[in-house]
Amino acid sequence: MTDTPSSTGEPLSQLTFDNRLVKQLPADPLRDNYPRQVPNAIYSFVNPQRAPAPQLVAYAQDVAALLDLTPEDCTSERFVQVFTGNELLPGMEPHATCYGGHQFGQWAGQLGDGRAINLGEVKNRQGEHWTLQLKGAGPTPYSRTADGNAVLRSSLRELLCSEAMHHLGVPTTRALSLTLTGDQVQRDMFYDGNPEWEPGAVVCRVAPSFTRFGHFEILTARGEVDLLRQMADFTLRNDFPELGPPGRDSYIALLKEVCVRTARMIAHWMRVGFVHGVMNTDNMSILGLTIDYGPYGWLEGYDPGWTPNTTDAQGRRYRFGHQPQMALWNLLQLANALYPLVEDAAPLEAALDEYRREYLRSFQRDSVAKLGLPEYRPETDDKLTEDLQRLLPLVETDMTIFYRCLADFDPLVDQAEDSRSDAQLIEPLLPAYYSPPTEEHQQRTADWLRQYRERLVQEWVRTGLDQRQRRERMNRVNPKYVLRNYMAQQAIDAAEQGDFSEVYRLLELLRNPYDEQPQSQRYFARRPEWARRRPGSSMLSCSS
Ligand code: AMP
Ligand code: MG
Repeated sequence: MTDTPSSTGEPLSQLTFDNRLVKQLPADPLRDNYPRQVPNAIYSFVNPQRAPAPQLVAYAQDVAALLDLTPEDCTSERFVQVFTGNELLPGMEPHATCYGGHQFGQWAGQLGDGRAINLGEVKNRQGEHWTLQLKGAGPTPYSRTADGNAVLRSSLRELLCSEAMHHLGVPTTRALSLTLTGDQVQRDMFYDGNPEWEPGAVVCRVAPSFTRFGHFEILTARGEVDLLRQMADFTLRNDFPELGPPGRDSYIALLKEVCVRTARMIAHWMRVGFVHGVMNTDNMSILGLTIDYGPYGWLEGYDPGWTPNTTDAQGRRYRFGHQPQMALWNLLQLANALYPLVEDAAPLEAALDEYRREYLRSFQRDSVAKLGLPEYRPETDDKLTEDLQRLLPLVETDMTIFYRCLADFDPLVDQAEDSRSDAQLIEPLLPAYYSPPTEEHQQRTADWLRQYRERLVQEWVRTGLDQRQRRERMNRVNPKYVLRNYMAQQAIDAAEQGDFSEVYRLLELLRNPYDEQPQSQRYFARRPEWARRRPGSSMLSCSS
């Protein structure tokens, strides 16, 4: 392997590949690219389709750095050709993988990388492996009846949100680049018989691996237990070496670890107000990463029943408040998939219990961290946090603004009595309300603030924390800037007209979501009224 700096060679020539998945797991023997069932294989070799006129829209500098790429590499002609799928670098072995999944509660059979093509695994200077995956670079054997393409709007949503999530501290796949192919792609955005032509685009996603629950499910559903064992062993060796050599104990440990990581990921989603929208088991990462950004959304008004996905509007299976349960349901499917390797339900059930424990632990810790309290004390905090959960949805209250403003509520700890009126108490919170609070709501909120104040006083006497420290702590867990749905849509509208400046602005803003950024204060505002019913801002579908 060479480690040539790019300045001495062609752009990107410093990338070296170590394609462990291709090396270690069995391939589909067929090389022809047509839709089919692919039994007895983990992946199929497939080349990206040719893009007529590749153009770079944006790249993420932090992801480029992970791959040891310089800004010169990322703005080179070679970069745009490679990451739109027109050129392969030495060492790349493009392939699409086979997986299945439960979609909206039903077993859906083989799905697979229908429009994702893995280029290979980069081994960076630190020895880390990063898989590069093009999304939207053409059909694969797993495309079923679809075209393998992606459009600009959904690709931009993926780029912006995966990077925003990373900087919020939420485990996620990353995005290196977004390019236009120069092709037009037809999409019927709301499946209502109104197809339109949209610009075709490709995102290069980056993660240590893209293994999903569905990779295991499909093998068990087909009775391919040998292959299931190979897949589990491969995952243990490469993604979870700390769990020890492959074997019955480490298969159980694997499920337990996936439970813990998934619990932490979901707790993060609940902390920042993220709704994935399509938590099917084919969209669940074995590494506990947020993956497959489709019709996701961010809570504006705090509403546990909200889902951004119009395709899920009926059952609202994947609504905000249901995500913790849905993750457990998905983990149960993973446990079933691993059962043939363990052949004993008890340890698998024990692993699932670990999800419940870890989720509760993380959720409780985050709930009080959001209030500036260092630890969860059930005797006071069960009631304090439950009362707040009940209070927030009563009137339309912007979640992000509420918590950020709550840090400005001064508990006046030095004063024995708090003589402020209801109106005075809730004053700092007013920017969070979509309509002026009624007297009754004011009173309920003030009552809660008094209960909260009491808890803070108790804590401060014990720890000596002061208001400045409390504010700082709160502002480290309660983001100031999130990717509100209308913000993404505005960037899309401009980008579709060839103006990418809003994309760059948002990428930069969302790199520091917890920081005060006075020049960007306009993004710290309630959703504008026009966005309430605008497609893309309030209504999203799986069409992408
Ligand atoms: P999703 O709902 O985006 O997670 O996709 C579910 C399955 O459909 C996955 O196997 C995708 O690869 C596949 N898929 C979605 N859109 C397309 C497309 N335009 N072309 C080919 N396959 C697709
Ligand atoms: Mg998917």
